Amino acid sequence: MTDDTDTPLTGHCHCGAVTFSLPRTAAGVLACHCEDCQRMHGNFNAFLAAPISDVRITGADALVWYDSSAAARRAFCGTCGARVLKEVTPAGRWLISAGLIDAPTGKRIIKNLWEQSKPDWYDLPPLATEGASA
Ligand SMILES: [Zn+2]
Ligand SMILES: [Zn+2]
Repeated sequence: MTDDTDTPLTGHCHCGAVTFSLPRTAAGVLACHCEDCQRMHGNFNAFLAAPISDVRITGADALVWYDSSAAARRAFCGTCGARVLKEVTPAGRWLISAGLIDAPTGKRIIKNLWEQSKPDWYDLPPLATEGASA
């Protein structure tokens, strides 16, 4: 039938108003420890990156966009508040919150970003060296 890589990853926000899919071939999970992510997510942000043209969203009108910096905006569900997307200017790809993606994803954390901004209450997550589709 279909090869596993042909089956997209799917996900949804907590209330289900927003659902999405993205290619299973997306690289592994990136963990961002910057202050913007900490204050938006309440902790570090784990996400998958995918070209905007490869992401299918239903319920996009439920998304509320917020300019989190001069160079980035983020979309959250206006009903449940789940952080769904981050878009960095110039927009070419979306960073999709990993916690919203249905398991099993087959993904592992492959990179930490902004380690120097990490708060003192956790250690950096270990990076996958094998079994990660990057
Ligand atoms: Zn929602
Ligand atoms: Zn960040």
